[in-house]
Amino acid sequence: MPPRARSAWTRTLGQLVLVLAAALLLGLVSGQVGLALALAALGVVAWHYWRLRRVLARLSSRQRQPVAEGNGVWNELERQLRENQENMRARKRRLVAMLRAYRAAAAALPDAVAVVERNSQRVQWFNEAATSLLGLRYPQDIGQPLGERLQTLQISHWLTAGRNAEPLLDAPSPVSSDIRLDLRLIPYSEDLWLVVARNVTKMMRLEQVRRDFVANVSHELRTPLTVVHGYLDMLDPDEHPEWAPMLSEMQLQSQRMTQLVEDLLTLSRLEAQDGIDSETVAMGSMLSTLRREAEALSQGRHVITLEDSAGVDLRGSTKELHSAFSNLVSNAVRYTPADGTIAIRFAREGGGAVLSVQDSGYGIPAAHLPRLTERFYRVSTSRSRESGGTGLGLAIVKHVLNLHHARLEIASEVGRGSLFSCHFGAERVQAPDAASHGAAS
Ligand code: ADP
Repeated sequence: MPPRARSAWTRTLGQLVLVLAAALLLGLVSGQVGLALALAALGVVAWHYWRLRRVLARLSSRQRQPVAEGNGVWNELERQLRENQENMRARKRRLVAMLRAYRAAAAALPDAVAVVERNSQRVQWFNEAATSLLGLRYPQDIGQPLGERLQTLQISHWLTAGRNAEPLLDAPSPVSSDIRLDLRLIPYSEDLWLVVARNVTKMMRLEQVRRDFVANVSHELRTPLTVVHGYLDMLDPDEHPEWAPMLSEMQLQSQRMTQLVEDLLTLSRLEAQDGIDSETVAMGSMLSTLRREAEALSQGRHVITLEDSAGVDLRGSTKELHSAFSNLVSNAVRYTPADGTIAIRFAREGGGAVLSVQDSGYGIPAAHLPRLTERFYRVSTSRSRESGGTGLGLAIVKHVLNLHHARLEIASEVGRGSLFSCHFGAERVQAPDAASHGAAS
């Protein structure tokens, strides 16, 4: 007990003793000791009850009342109660202010935010941007299942995936299909999820402008390049032998530029595509073509092997897959010194299939592997240029495989060689047309 409370208590006890002593004295004087003591005790009890009533009244009253002066036990009790009450009020005020500040911050976010109950998928709360981006309306939509409210987005299934839900990218907003949204599901507690939708319309537009720009520039460059290339071909180095080295360098560079423009156009075309043809890709003839191309590029400097243990065909675009595979083969030839080996393999993997190109060439340091499929990313620019590379080959490979829902895996060791493999799912594999395959080596 704090000293102040203890002294209040002793003081009140002292007062009681005094009252009783006075009553005893009065009783002795009047000869009615019992009556005097009983009356005094009754008086004390009545006073205590009255004070108790005051404390109760004070507790239930909303108004602040001044604490009576005095240092008895009841006044001390009232003082302490008042202190506690004020502390609690101040804490409540602080918490309310904090809650308001958080709500105001969430409401002011440019991204749509909605709090959803995990089991029922019902909306508990949402901010202003959720109205403009997701079309949620206050108060009607509070307590409504989010999946039903955003039916056009078909997100019920996505919501069920919960923790495993991948972000939904570039989805049309239910308010207007001109607004594009990236949706993310954040399970932030056991029972509550946060759905965050970001407006990416501008970014998508910029991306479109960038793509169109690259496509247009490449297209515009094509014609002048063809002209330059044509005239260069017409110039006869025998007429001016001193120009011969210059002419051949100019021809080489103009060929490089033409290849660069062609690769950029291919990439633009691939980027603009949402899906891909689904024709039969005859792998038998594809593999022999790849081998022929490898041999032509290598010109006998490498040992080239071909192995087809899969004996199946693929579904997709023959043209695009050929461009992807031949990029891998040409890289293998270009980045493998003479006398190296290059193995092209086509094999089954579970229900799917893998096409791999392995070389015994220079290899790639591990730090470069994650960025290899970026445009113009090269491990060694000079080696790439010398061998006629544009820096776009693997970017094309990645795009083509993405369109086929396939994935590219790269394993490499410096000085020992690299393995590029394209993994296709079961849905891309189909039984071959008769006699289109034959194991080769
Ligand atoms: P490039 O036209 O320069 O070959 P790519 O996109 O095809 O461009 O490849 C990107 C880079 O990856 C190359 O510059 C090269 O450094 C590296 N690379 C690709 N394939 C191989 C390989 N088989 N062996 C070693 N390095 C490779």
